[in-house]
Amino acid sequence: MTIAAVDAGGTSFKCALVHGDGELVSTWRIPTTAPQETLRACAAAFQRESQTHGLNPVALGIASFGPVDIDPASATYGTITGTAKPGWNEAPIGPVLSKALGIPFYLDTDVNAALAAEMRWGTAQGLGNAAYMTVGTGIGVGLSLNGTMVGRPTHPEFGHIRIARHVDDQAFPGTCTLHCDCLEGLASAQAFEARWGDPTQLPVDHPAWNIEAYYLAQACTNLYLMTRLNRIIIGGGLLQTDHLYENIQKQFDRLMGDYLPVKGADLIAAPKLGEHAGVLGGAVTALKALS
Ligand code: ZN
Repeated sequence: MTIAAVDAGGTSFKCALVHGDGELVSTWRIPTTAPQETLRACAAAFQRESQTHGLNPVALGIASFGPVDIDPASATYGTITGTAKPGWNEAPIGPVLSKALGIPFYLDTDVNAALAAEMRWGTAQGLGNAAYMTVGTGIGVGLSLNGTMVGRPTHPEFGHIRIARHVDDQAFPGTCTLHCDCLEGLASAQAFEARWGDPTQLPVDHPAWNIEAYYLAQACTNLYLMTRLNRIIIGGGLLQTDHLYENIQKQFDRLMGDYLPVKGADLIAAPKLGEHAGVLGGAVTALKALS
């Protein structure tokens, strides 16, 4: 079985033909411009690639940026529902691609899809309960408990929880336009850069890393105490360095205070599927719906 998979992002649409076992047959990118132009180019490339490889994808699986309607029972399923990206409000990504390719579509948020892929083929394989937290411009969290994505027919908004401030970070107002100093407002890549500039230019011993790790460790502590989950995967632009993972794991242990027999090093991990997590997540979204 072959799936046509899309990781719909604000900069590009990553596309792939994926076999049912996760093997990537072919991958390519389409730049994200206006909706019609982008979707037309995606559909044409899928037709061309399918022909080249002699494959007939049975379904389309999409991991999408948001806000997006992920409720299969809704009349606007697969449609962008907000103004996150100029020109894309009400863009019916799923329906348009599905019609052009003549196959059904299944769509989830990019975070939920990445979590589903990591649970099937990545670092949370075989675990019943896991979360995926992406730390980029914003902070998004997908959570799966006992095989079910939490928050259906929408998704958790864990990026906006309240956390305690670091003692050395009292003055920064926070970047969340709704809550100022929620988790996203204090710990997103945008918030990080607003205080300390380009993270790739900061030395490992800069105090910014301890403050950032403190916030992300609090997020992990709250997730763990609430759900007793088995794995927290943290991805996104800010997590490019191993030292930040180690710092989060250490601060998680400190915040937990030996209360429960869990170690940050066992619980908190980097994604395993790397840049392909999105398209593979789109594929898993379709495979789950078809099984
Ligand atoms: Zn917020």
